[in-house]
Amino acid sequence: MKIVVVGAGVVGIATAYELATDGHTVTVFDKSAAACEEASFANSGLVAPSMYLPYAFPSHKGNAVMRFLETGRRLTRRPWRSLQEMKSLRRWTQAHSPEAHARQLAVAQQLGRYSAERLGHIIGQNQLEIERSEGQLVLVRTELALQRLQTSLEALKAQDIACKVLTPEEARKLEPSLHSEAPFHAALWLAGDQVANCRQFALELKTVTQKMGVKYHFGTDLQDLSLQPQPTLTLASAQGTDVVTADHVVLCTGQLPRHLLAKQPLHIPLVELHGYALSVAIREPLNAPRSAVFDLHDNLVINRLGNRIRVSAGAELGPKADVKHAQVVNAMYRALELYFPGAANYPAGTQVWHGTRHAITDGLPAIGPSGLSQLSLNIGHGACGWTWACGSARLLADQIAGRPTAIASPSVLPTRFLR
Ligand SMILES: Cc1cc2nc3c(=O)[nH]c(=O)nc-3n(C[C@H](O)[C@H](O)[C@H](O)COP(=O)(O)OP(=O)(O)OC[C@H]3O[C@@H](n4cnc5c(N)ncnc54)[C@H](O)[C@@H]3O)c2cc1C
Repeated sequence: MKIVVVGAGVVGIATAYELATDGHTVTVFDKSAAACEEASFANSGLVAPSMYLPYAFPSHKGNAVMRFLETGRRLTRRPWRSLQEMKSLRRWTQAHSPEAHARQLAVAQQLGRYSAERLGHIIGQNQLEIERSEGQLVLVRTELALQRLQTSLEALKAQDIACKVLTPEEARKLEPSLHSEAPFHAALWLAGDQVANCRQFALELKTVTQKMGVKYHFGTDLQDLSLQPQPTLTLASAQGTDVVTADHVVLCTGQLPRHLLAKQPLHIPLVELHGYALSVAIREPLNAPRSAVFDLHDNLVINRLGNRIRVSAGAELGPKADVKHAQVVNAMYRALELYFPGAANYPAGTQVWHGTRHAITDGLPAIGPSGLSQLSLNIGHGACGWTWACGSARLLADQIAGRPTAIASPSVLPTRFLR
C-alpha cells in the first residue's frame, strides 16, 4: 500500500520503519524544518516500563473535588487563574474507578515492556549506536513517603516488574556519585528501566528508513484531509500548496489536528502538559550519574546521556507560556548541585528546553484504526511517548496488515472514543 505518515517525531519515524519493513511504500510529512523538533527533541530519555512517571495516571483517587485540588497542587504552574487551564484540569481529573485504573496501568506496563523489547530488537537489527544506560533509582525522602508507595509497589509486583527497596548505602553502590548529603531515606531500584537518547535513536532510524525507500518532506503542514473517495491530503509549504493522495494515512502528530476532524465522530480528550529539560556538559564523569535518578519529592529526573547530564521537571497545563518558569528552571539547577555537585560544566554550554506532552486524559495513547475509512492514529502518548514508541509502531503496522497484535486491549484503540 501507499501510506502517508504525518509527523516525524519518534512515534512517526518508528511507525514509518515498521510500515516499510512490512513492504509498504511510505512517505512522511512534517511541518517542522527537521525531524524531532517537538516533543521528541530533548525529553528525559527514560524508557520505563515501570511507569514510575509522575503525571501518567493522576486521576484515580478521592472524590472529584479532591482529585481536582490534588492534581492542581502537583502542577508547577497553578491553574486557578486561567479558565482554559481549569477546563483542562477538569478533563484530566475525570473519575474512573480503582479497578479501571489498575486495568489501565496493567496495559500501560504491558505496552512499556513490549516497546522496550521492540526497541532492543530495532537497535540490534540495525546496529544503531545510541547513548544508553540501565536502571532507574527513585529517591524517597521519608519513611512516610515510602509507606505511601506500598500500593504502587504491589501494582509493580503484580505486573512482574522488578523493584527493590534499598537503603541509602545500597543505593550509593548503584549510583556511587550521589552526594553523601543527598536527602533521602530509601530508594527504589527499577532494574528493567533504562535511559536512551530518544532524538539520537529517531534520527538514526530515520536514516535506516531512508535506505529502505521512505521519503521525508519537511516544512509541510497538513492543512486539510478528506478521506472519500480516497485519502487526500492538502499540504502547505514555502513552495505553495500540494495535494497528495494515498491508500492509507497515519497521523503521528502528537495531538489530533482538530480543524481537520472537527466534523468527524471522533472525540479524543487530550490535554497539553508542558515541561522543561536542562542539558549540560559533564565536567567530571566520576561525579556524574551513571543512569537515571528520580527525585520523587520534587518530581524531577536527573540522568546521564553520553557526555551530558539532563535534568527534567515541570508540569504546566493549558497553553504554553512564552516565558520559561524561572522557579522550575532554578529548581533543576539546584537539584543537580544537591545530588551531583561538581558534575556539570556550565561554561561549556547549557540548554533549557520547554517541551509539550500531548496526553489523553485516561493515560493511554490512541493506536490503530480511527473508525474513519483509511485513517489510523498513533497519538497521545503523553509522558511516555519514548517508552511506548517502538511497541506502538509495531502494533499499528500489525493492525494495518490485519495480523493479530501483541497487545489486544481495546484500551489503546482510538475507537474507545467514538461518539
Ligand atoms: C519535558 C519532557 C520530558 C519527557 N520525558 C520522557 C521520558 O523520559 N520518557 C518517555 O517515554 N517520554 C518522555 N516524554 C514524552 C515524549 O517526549 C513524547 O511523548 C514523545 O516524544 C511523543 O512523540 P511523538 O512523535 O508522538 O510527538 P512529536 O515528537 O511531537 O512529533 C509530532 C510531529 O508531528 C508534527 N506535526 C504536528 N502537526 C502537524 C501537521 N498539521 N502537519 C505536519 N506535521 C505536523 C510535528 O511537527 C512533530 O514533528 C517527555 C516529554 C517532555 C515534554
